[in-house]
Order: sequence, then C-alpha cells, then structure tokens
Amino acid sequence: MQALLNELITLVGSSNVLTEGDLSAWEQDWRKRTHGKALAVVRPGNTDEVAQVVRACARHLQQHPACGISIVPQGGNTGLVVGSTPDASGRQIVLSLQRMNTVRAIDAANLTITAEAGCILQRVQESALAAGFLFPLSLAAEGSCTIGGNLGSNAGGTQVLRFGNARELCLGLEVVTPQGDIWQGLSGLRKDNTGYDLRHLYVGSEGTLGIITAATMKLYPLPAAQTTAWAAVPSMQAAVDLLGLAQRHLGAGLTGFEVMGRFALSLVARHFANLHVPLFADWPFCVLLEHSDHSSASHARAQFEQLLEVALAQGCVSDAVLAENLAQSKTLWQIRESISLAQALEGPNIKHDISVPISSIPAFVQATDALLQQAIPGVRLVNFGHLGDGNLHYNAQAPLGIDAAVFLREQEPQVNRLVFDSVLQFGGSISAEHGIGSLKVDHLAHYKSPVALQAMRAIKAALDPQNLLNPARVLAPIGTSELP
Ligand SMILES: Cc1cc2nc3c(=O)[nH]c(=O)nc-3n(C[C@H](O)[C@H](O)[C@H](O)COP(=O)(O)OP(=O)(O)OC[C@H]3O[C@@H](n4cnc5c(N)ncnc54)[C@H](O)[C@@H]3O)c2cc1C
Repeated sequence: MQALLNELITLVGSSNVLTEGDLSAWEQDWRKRTHGKALAVVRPGNTDEVAQVVRACARHLQQHPACGISIVPQGGNTGLVVGSTPDASGRQIVLSLQRMNTVRAIDAANLTITAEAGCILQRVQESALAAGFLFPLSLAAEGSCTIGGNLGSNAGGTQVLRFGNARELCLGLEVVTPQGDIWQGLSGLRKDNTGYDLRHLYVGSEGTLGIITAATMKLYPLPAAQTTAWAAVPSMQAAVDLLGLAQRHLGAGLTGFEVMGRFALSLVARHFANLHVPLFADWPFCVLLEHSDHSSASHARAQFEQLLEVALAQGCVSDAVLAENLAQSKTLWQIRESISLAQALEGPNIKHDISVPISSIPAFVQATDALLQQAIPGVRLVNFGHLGDGNLHYNAQAPLGIDAAVFLREQEPQVNRLVFDSVLQFGGSISAEHGIGSLKVDHLAHYKSPVALQAMRAIKAALDPQNLLNPARVLAPIGTSELP
C-alpha cells in the first residue's frame, strides 16, 4: 500500500494525500451514523489528476488483487444514505473533489453554466445570479453540497415541481471512468440522439460507475417576482386538490409546493421558539406554496389571492397567509427547512424518503399511519415533503416515554418493512431523492424488480469490471443481501 500512497503523493502532492490526524470530515457521514477508516483522503486539483489517481489505483488493484483497494468519490459529504464515506476496512481511498471548485463558463445565449464537480451548489446559484440567471436546484444543504454530489445522487430539492431534479437540469458531463480515461461530454446540447445517453447512466449512479469532474447545467431567466403563501388544509386529500388547483391557476409559475404535518410543525415550534409557525395548531396539514412570476410582484400577488379565494370557497384551504415581503417569505421557508433539525433535536428517529403517485398519497398516508399505530401504539409520525413531486419524508419518532435508542434498535426493521411494503403496494419508490448508498442496499435488493437489478449489475460489471468505484454501494455483492 505504501508504494501506492507514494505514487499518489507524486501525482497530487503530499498536502493532498491525507492519512493522519482527524479525518472525521471525510470519514464520518452527515448524520453521524457511521465513522469509517480511509486508507487516505486524496484531493486532486484538476481532471487530469483525477484520471491519474484512478489509473494508479486500477493498476495497483490489477497487480495486487488481494489488496482490495477501492475509491469512494466524495463531494460535500452531505449525503443521507452513507454513500460518500469509507467503510471500516482501511482499504478505501476517499477521492475528494473539494479542490475542483471553478465555474468554468457561463454561456448566456445557450442558457448554460459549466462548473467543476467540487463547486458548492450555492456558489453555482450565486454565479448564475451574478450573470442575471436562475440556477434552480435548491436544497437545505446547498451551502455545503457540491454539484458533483448533486449529480451523483440525482438530488431533488424544492424546485423539482417546475424545473426537475439534477438529472433534468444536466446537459453534459465530464467523467473519469474506472479505467482512468476521461469522457468529454460537456456539450451543452439540448438535442443529441447519437446512441445511448451516457450522461443519464452517470447521473444518480452514486459514484459507482464514474467520477464526475465537471458538468454543464441549464440556466433559466430570473423571475420578476417570487411570492410565498402558507395554507392550512383540512386533510391530505385537500392538499392534493389544492395542488391541482394551483397548477391550473399558476401554470409554470408554481415553483414550490411543500406539505407539512401538524406534528412535524409542532416540533419546529417547540425547538425553534424564535420562529412563529402560522396556523398549524388547528389543522392536520399546512402547505407552503411558491409562485414565480415573470410580470411583476403585484401581478404575482393578485394571482395568488385569486387562487386562495377559489381554494377557500372550494374547501381545500381552511385558512391562509400570504408573505408580505421577502423577509416573510424567507421565514416561511426557514420553518419548512427546520423540520429535519427539529426532528433531530427531538431525538433519533427512523427516516424514509419515499415517493408514490401524487393521486395515491392520501390513501398511502391513511393506510400506513394506521398500520404503524396498530403495530406501535403512540408512535409519532413526522410527515412532510415535496408533495408536488409525490415525495414524502415519512419518519417515525419513538412514542412519548420510550427511549429513542431502544425504539430504533428494536423497531427499525419492523417500521421499515411496514412502510416499504406499503410504498410498494401503492406503486411507489423506497428512495425518492436521497439514493441508496450503503444504508438501503439490502432494501433495494429486496424491493427492486429482479430484472432491473440484473440489468444494473450488468452495467456495473461492464463499466467497472474491477469493482474499483464505490463497491457495495447501490448494489449488494451477489448473494450477500438479506433483510433483517
Ligand atoms: C440538511 C440536508 C438537506 C438535504 N435536502 C435534500 C433535498 O431536499 N433533496 C435531495 O435530493 N437531497 C437532499 N439532501 C441529501 C443530498 O443528496 C445531498 O445534500 C447532496 O445532493 C449531496 O451532495 P454532496 O456534494 O454532499 O455529495 P456527497 O454526500 O459527497 O456524495 C453523495 C453521493 O454522490 C457520490 N459523489 C459525490 N461526488 C461525486 C462525483 N463528483 N462524481 C460521482 N459521484 C459523486 C458519492 O460517492 C455519494 O455516493 C440533503 C442533505 C442534508 C444534509
């Protein structure tokens, strides 16, 4: 191993091959569920260096198959499924893209931005804004996550309803293959039907098929105004009805539609006393709507008022407030984005990031709530998410008076099984936007169609026959997966 480390030092410099000291920032996952041990954290500064590092590792593995080394690509390490940190073997190299953080180009006429993989998402948004454009990918981790990680995990976030997830925003990629070759695919073309679209293979592959080193992403014109409304609704069905109404009234102007359950909001009210959470106490759900308008602020407001008037008359909204200004809008979004943290402050909990067809969400929630209450009386369900995308964060908190650690240890397998079985029954997905990582490998093996799994394995074997990139992530080694 030392020979390989020496070669890597020659390639990227000793200050960029970290083997000693506190490496927690790279070795521990965001939710602190696992703390692995890296052979080294390697931080190349450009695409050629990434390719050379991969080539050196591939050669070493070929010459010493028993050494078992592999590479874990890492961006901001904010992923929620333990996919970007090393295992405990001490044989995995964390390849961090952090130093590759240049915005290479903005093409105003083509409406594209090309950025290196290690660019922090917020920096990409700010660069677009400075040039007078909107880069719409937006999520609560945007101050830390990177564009490479967003694409690796096909991140969603709050604007998917209008602009799609990271995949739909991506027009081109530059990728280092598991053999250390560089695929230049930064075309920025909106039409290119020349065979298999490799870009779609790499997006969402969680670092198992190639290392994204740069991406060309879509830009949009900036809206003239954005307004936010907060509506209390009498049921989940009413929230779905409101979504349909808002889509008809606002068309493409509807850029956000988030649902939040009463218990989820009560946790924000309890743990963030400085945030005034409107209307939640008397209604089972609240909805946050965002409207982006290309005319003016007054036009945006008038359209929103009309929508809410109709919604109140039809009974799918019980009460509502409109943000008066940007500061109020930000506060409403802050409440939504504080739910995860409030939940963490309440204690460890069992998380699910699931999707079902929007039309099935009310029935899914009713059926799954009932199943869980029957199995674990008093279980507290934190239900919120991107309703406009059919995506719920459907989480279970220990009943009052039950130790959270004991609840997790004893109930997690049962809760996961009940929730995922129900998801399957309603035609949904066990991972809507966070991916599989190592956390959900066994669940994927259990719930995904065998035909799809076989095709995925064939793709992995064809592109990465040495199993060098992020092994045992997404796909379980054959014959090893068994649900508890
Ligand atoms: C507070 C918070 C809120 C979040 N909200 C959302 C949300 O609303 N929607 C959502 O979808 N996700 C959300 N996430 C999770 C989300 O996946 C990540 O925040 C983000 O997309 C990951 O980017 P990253 O740079 O941190 O990637 P990492 O965590 O470093 O990596 C994620 C995966 O991508 C791979 N990867 C990283 N870089 C590359 C690369 N250059 N090439 C190939 N593979 C690579 C890794 O190996 C790993 O498998 C949230 C996370 C947090 C902590």
